[in-house]
Amino acid sequence: MPTWNQSPDAIDPGETILAPLSPERRAALRSMSWIGYLQSPEWKSIRSFMLAAYPASQLSGERGHLEVHHVNWRPRGKERPRDLVVMTADEHRRAHGSLPPDELISLLLIAEEDPTWVHTLQQYRHAVTQRQPIGAG
Ligand SMILES: [Zn+2]
Repeated sequence: MPTWNQSPDAIDPGETILAPLSPERRAALRSMSWIGYLQSPEWKSIRSFMLAAYPASQLSGERGHLEVHHVNWRPRGKERPRDLVVMTADEHRRAHGSLPPDELISLLLIAEEDPTWVHTLQQYRHAVTQRQPIGAG
């Protein structure tokens, strides 16, 4: 399993979660289908990091069954905490579907007052308005 680059106890939202991967492995991750990537050891390690770092939904604070949503799905294997949001399964369904983008962004802004998240939120808004796949993770 790939190693974490930082501790879930001292999260740096802008630092990559995994230690750097080889260029060959990065290329392999980029060439996979999205579903294939979600089954990779890299994603499983990143997901484990996020669930250890955030034991409750970052949107609502709810606990229970939590999932890790990609706000920015491009940096495969190079995800930073700010590229991801831990949320409940129900919140995750809404993030992918019925919830208007502005409403989800409001929830995210309430949940996270760190201004560095604005860039991530703009990326999220762009993805939603362009109807691009957000990622099933
Ligand atoms: Zn998702």
